[in-house]
Amino acid sequence: MARVELVPFPVFPCESLCLRVLVAGLLYPHSMPFSEFHGNSDIVQRLREMLGRDHLPHAVVLAGGQGSGKYTLALMLAQALNCLNPQTNDGLPDFCGTCANCTRIAQAGDLDARFAEAVEARENLRETDKKETRILVQTHTDVLVIPPDPPQMMIKVDQVRRVIETIYYRPAEGKEKVYIFTDSAFMKEAANSLLKVLEEPPEFATIFLLTENPGELLPTIRSRSMVFTLAALSAEGIEKDLATQRPEWKAAQRALVARLSDGAVGRARSFDVAAYTAARDHALAILKSALAGGEHSELFRITESYRPGAEGREKTEALIKTLYSLLRDLVFIDSGAPELIRNTDIASELKRMAESADFAWITAASDRLAEVERGMRRNLLRSLSLDAFAAGLEK
Ligand SMILES: [Zn+2]
Repeated sequence: MARVELVPFPVFPCESLCLRVLVAGLLYPHSMPFSEFHGNSDIVQRLREMLGRDHLPHAVVLAGGQGSGKYTLALMLAQALNCLNPQTNDGLPDFCGTCANCTRIAQAGDLDARFAEAVEARENLRETDKKETRILVQTHTDVLVIPPDPPQMMIKVDQVRRVIETIYYRPAEGKEKVYIFTDSAFMKEAANSLLKVLEEPPEFATIFLLTENPGELLPTIRSRSMVFTLAALSAEGIEKDLATQRPEWKAAQRALVARLSDGAVGRARSFDVAAYTAARDHALAILKSALAGGEHSELFRITESYRPGAEGREKTEALIKTLYSLLRDLVFIDSGAPELIRNTDIASELKRMAESADFAWITAASDRLAEVERGMRRNLLRSLSLDAFAAGLEK
């Protein structure tokens, strides 16, 4: 059976690929030690104590809602297990964040981006290879991240096979093989295969299972793992934290950021308010122009500023995310639940827009936005597809 590996920034000894790894290492921020993990300090401490005694279980379930830091913590533990320059802070093991192992593991930190790269690489394969290829993210030889595989967004048996094929070989460049399953939606056969690994894990491997709901995992998998439940901070809790950490932001901005950061206080503190507001101004102008019809010069002036190619990519992605977030808020207003909107600082403006944006229009807009996203993955001209998006939405 033909199988193509999809690993962004592969670590094979090839000159051009190694260059990519090097460049990526320079582009991505260095990872931070455990003190940078916000919240759930009791759980972090227990895990570090286990690390210190060399007693970290072979299978660890990290449970918690979106934004509770499951993935961040798993990557930090992967770094602590493999750091070439291990540290001690507060009498507990820590990692340096700057050695070759730490930096390469940290490159998997932006999971959405790594996942999108792998999906894009698969899109570009021949039809027959596409079917045989599963999405995996690997930025370090000894650390494999296993996300749910699209389009079903489930963990599939071929992904677990990849784990079985590699887990019994000693780590090549680190000290511990680490496998991170980022979701608990397993196909039945995949769960059963994983169970076999958990029955006899090698001493040099640790498997992290991340889940929003541990009940989704087979009871036999749960019973072979140690479960840690991370609590997400409430929006109010984050707002309070921001009041001391980001006093320079206006209260309305802090309220907005607290709602946009999904309970993740680290994400909230480092939120780029100016960039978000700039993208949102454009998103609002596009939606308003579509709802009002008529004059389009303002619209084209905006879409013009979204350049095709790598330079415009991040900007366009930010715009698309913001468009989704506004459409979501419009749905909340239309369905009589305005208290759930996230863009609280422009609530009255959104309410005015909602008067002319009904469910059918919002649904059509979301569908078209999904089309723009697909077009971007296939590298169509950004401004063209944005123009088409806006023009197609006209009332
Ligand atoms: Zn290190």
